Amino acid sequence: MDLEGLALKWALKNAVDHDGKAMLGPVISKILGEKPELRSRIKEVRDAAEEAVERVNRMSLEEQRRLLEDLAPELLEAKKVEEKKLPPLPGAEKGKVVTRLPPEPSGYMHIGHAMSGLLNYLYARMYDGRIWLRFEDTDPRKVKPEYYESFRRGYRWLGIEWDYEKNNSDDMELFYRYAEELIRAGKAYVCTCPVEEVRRLRAAGEPCEHRGQGIDENLYLWHEMLSGAFGEGEATLRLAGDMRSKNMTMRDPALFRIIDHPHPLTGTRYRVWPLYDFAVSIEDHLCSVTHVLRTSEFAPRDELQNYIRSLLGMRNPIYIEYSRFEFKGTPVSKRRLRAVLEAGIASGWDDPRFPTIEGIRRRGILPEAIREFTITQTGFSYAKREYDWSLLFAINRRILDPRARRLFFAPNPVRLLVEGAPSLRVNVPYHPSNEKLGSRRIETGQEFYIAGSDAEGMKPGSIYRLKYLLNFEVVGREADGAIRGRFLGREPMKDIPIIQWIPVRDAVEVKVMIPDVLYLDDEINPESLKIVEGFGEGAVEGVKVDEIAQFERFGFCRRDSESELLFIKAHD
Ligand SMILES: [Zn+2]
Repeated sequence: MDLEGLALKWALKNAVDHDGKAMLGPVISKILGEKPELRSRIKEVRDAAEEAVERVNRMSLEEQRRLLEDLAPELLEAKKVEEKKLPPLPGAEKGKVVTRLPPEPSGYMHIGHAMSGLLNYLYARMYDGRIWLRFEDTDPRKVKPEYYESFRRGYRWLGIEWDYEKNNSDDMELFYRYAEELIRAGKAYVCTCPVEEVRRLRAAGEPCEHRGQGIDENLYLWHEMLSGAFGEGEATLRLAGDMRSKNMTMRDPALFRIIDHPHPLTGTRYRVWPLYDFAVSIEDHLCSVTHVLRTSEFAPRDELQNYIRSLLGMRNPIYIEYSRFEFKGTPVSKRRLRAVLEAGIASGWDDPRFPTIEGIRRRGILPEAIREFTITQTGFSYAKREYDWSLLFAINRRILDPRARRLFFAPNPVRLLVEGAPSLRVNVPYHPSNEKLGSRRIETGQEFYIAGSDAEGMKPGSIYRLKYLLNFEVVGREADGAIRGRFLGREPMKDIPIIQWIPVRDAVEVKVMIPDVLYLDDEINPESLKIVEGFGEGAVEGVKVDEIAQFERFGFCRRDSESELLFIKAHD
């Protein structure tokens, strides 16, 4: 892109973001941001930007949007629209908001992570704030390298840009220092009770004998823990909380425990690992997090985390909660998804029936749809609710509709012979209104394939139209089920059914996977995946892998394979 194009692009972007009015300053800085080497030609840059701003400001907002979509569709995000739909964030100040994406890299990223991540990101952006990507990776037995990458990839796919990245496991020495501070303040003690004993006493609200230990004793035992004198499960560092608290998490929870398992990032260097609440409390402080947006099942932990921070003189963030993101028939729990895998019903974590980001992407759901769904569907309430896939599909369909190519596909095909039909060459548009998508030329004779469901009801005497092509009257049916028809001209006729068709000589074999929900009434749905076979027109071969096309009167389908015409149906 040359300087003029660059200037036009950023002027359009600035205008679209500001109600149709572009400003010179930000446009210049955007140009220089993208191409720093232009700094030496600042006069030219300024002239080009001025001209572009003037030109763009004469256009209507609609024109600006359209042109930007041609020029740089990736920039055309509905920032303002998105922000208007979000309720204001309590206690938020422009420029001072800090949020975080806190994934535990112990499994693949799923729709719940996506929605929660989006809220944290959109709010940070709405208030010109900052956002961290912070991996909560202090359970070495659970975390795996591939999962870190799954989250990075997933967030990027959703259009989430983070400002900083770190791992909790980077801060082990710091965690140890804060632990020692708590011990010295008499607020933490080393407990060597067996696990069952701890469980029993916590349930009963009684302290164990170790709670009364002196500070020196605790310091000594803590260093013993660090130096390897205890085996796994033999000692924990516990918070001196409130054994009588109604909130169970406050009853002297463990802050550190010993885990003899190498960590994917730090190897065997550490074996005393902080538990979730301790690590999060410290990290939210270190990252200066101001707002925590998360699902309500974490709510009982707020009190504990705030208490830990108060003992260490740290400030608490503002918590905003919403109900957990669950979709009907599609659990996000690893245990229940693994059950589906083990039953041989799904082949991997990227199965298009899975709520994992990889699964959803394969199914043909667009990141824009998830963004819009998140903004419009998540209310800040504790009430448990189950989302319905159909709502997400409706948004996805609306976004896809103007940009997906229309193609002919005949599932469970039946042959159709139209006697008297002339040989034709027709141009068929890929979209009824979006001319940019172009058209394809199809040559026809007298033999076609049509969908089995269309052939089913055909009775002699009834009249049909092959879309864009010709009309015919049904004459009869062959012994093998093929339909025999008679050519009735090409001019469209009123009130006759219009069906899709594929010339026999142009037909290619197409397979479509149709996913359904994984669970029905808590039982694994054994028929959650159907495969439909049929013929597509030759142009189906031109659909690229990952492209989502609409098979007319069948549904939106994403091509899943390079080597064969295998598609996955997203929805009708
Ligand atoms: Zn004890």
